[in-house]
Amino acid sequence: VAGEYEYDVLVIGSGPGGYVAAIRASQLKLKAAVVERDKIGGVCLNIGCIPSKALIHQAEMFSHIKDLEAMGLKVDKSGFDYGVAFRKSRTAADRLSKGVAFLLKKNNVEVIVGTGRVAGPHEVVVEGAGAPRTVRAKNILIATGSRPREIPGFKIDEQRVLSSTGMLMMEKLPRSLLILGAGAIGAEFAYVMNAFGVQVHLVEMLPQVLPLEDSETAAVLAKDLAKRGVTIAVDTKAVAMAPRGADLEVTLEGKDGKRSTVAVEKILVAVGRAPNTENLGLEKVGVKLDRGFVTVGDYYQTAVPSVYAIGDVVPTPLLAHVASKEGEIAVEHMAGHKPPKKVDLQAIPSAVYTEPQVASFGPTEEKAKASGIKYKKSSFPYRGAGKAVAVEQVDGMVKILTDPATGEILAAHIVGSNATELIHEILLAKTAELLPADISTMIHAHPTLSEAVMEGMRAVEGWVIHV
Ligand SMILES: Cc1cc2nc3c(=O)[nH]c(=O)nc-3n(C[C@H](O)[C@H](O)[C@H](O)COP(=O)(O)OP(=O)(O)OC[C@H]3O[C@@H](n4cnc5c(N)ncnc54)[C@H](O)[C@@H]3O)c2cc1C
Repeated sequence: VAGEYEYDVLVIGSGPGGYVAAIRASQLKLKAAVVERDKIGGVCLNIGCIPSKALIHQAEMFSHIKDLEAMGLKVDKSGFDYGVAFRKSRTAADRLSKGVAFLLKKNNVEVIVGTGRVAGPHEVVVEGAGAPRTVRAKNILIATGSRPREIPGFKIDEQRVLSSTGMLMMEKLPRSLLILGAGAIGAEFAYVMNAFGVQVHLVEMLPQVLPLEDSETAAVLAKDLAKRGVTIAVDTKAVAMAPRGADLEVTLEGKDGKRSTVAVEKILVAVGRAPNTENLGLEKVGVKLDRGFVTVGDYYQTAVPSVYAIGDVVPTPLLAHVASKEGEIAVEHMAGHKPPKKVDLQAIPSAVYTEPQVASFGPTEEKAKASGIKYKKSSFPYRGAGKAVAVEQVDGMVKILTDPATGEILAAHIVGSNATELIHEILLAKTAELLPADISTMIHAHPTLSEAVMEGMRAVEGWVIHV
């Protein structure tokens, strides 16, 4: 580092954006440090992706009781303790947070405990336990992430009105739960709570469950959740809430203005996330914000060239893997490398870990239509794959959009068991500029769910075997 700076890069925030960026910086011989005010690993490891996936895993095992009972086993559920599932989710989170702390250490990334604030183009003031410390760095990377968004009338108290954080920290199941917002987080909690026997109402203001996903794949999930007993209301918003005995009575209003009420023990507000960009001194040093998100150009550089921003604080999809990739691009640019200018938005996989799972990349069919993109639609149902039948996972499909002129893969939308793993074969093909024929003619092991991907590509070419 040039004498006047302590670090080549100082990262504020140790989520999947910040910690990956710091380790990548260190690999590129940049001296890096991370400022963190809370637990290492950010939202994703501590109160996001990891504990939620741990709970989903517990829920999946719990739902297999039905299948065991179908074989004549009698399971005595009286000793069921949700606290065990909760504690397992905390063990997974803590283990990964410690693992990341170890990785930072191994890569010589210093962790500075405290709250960081940008005080100049190369200066961050850290307030921690002792006196405030001013750290000078050649580059600053803002990776401060996001927090749950609130809606008027539904103040989050984490007792009866919960955010995803309160939901993940809950040690006892409620009898009933109203979930506001049927995006990935709302849908995943609907699946988990329903599996554990909670009476779940899922309410979405937009016309479909998983509003960002293709309507055909989202409909398969909605139908399945409904079959499991989740009450779903789309085109509906919650307008008021009032205590009624031990419960909360919520007034819902449909698009047609019709009102109804539902009484529940708890409410989960899952209507989106707000970027953590307040009190960071950003505007004072000249960094531009737009509706709270940091405005960035190529390589995630802000209006102040030595200040970069990545992850949930920038207006790209709020996903852990997007944060990490953006972090890599930013520090590779700082190191003088020539990374891509930005993440290719058409090549970001999205994944919803309900059962069935939903995974996709590229435009939805609705989006392609609305933006005048010419496409050919092809699909293959899971029930056509022997493995899906063998493992009783026939609800699902692989849907592919291709360019009718060139055959190029534009988008894939998968709903069904293991969709979040299957999506990557198609995404690899797209990013490597392969064509459907490259997948349709490659030998896939039998029986696997991947054969549905192979058959999906044959559908594009018009020679499906198993339907
Ligand atoms: C319930 C839930 C489930 C999710 N599941 C998935 C999933 O399955 N897959 C997926 O891709 N994404 C998932 N996400 C989204 C994912 O968690 C975020 O996209 C990701 O964590 C963003 O990473 P980040 O590095 O930008 O910020 P964050 O993970 O939010 O980390 C930011 C860090 O910065 C720290 N910080 C903030 N301000 C300061 C400051 N001034 N000084 C010092 N430190 C500061 C915070 O304490 C925090 O540790 C989920 C989110 C939630 C809530």
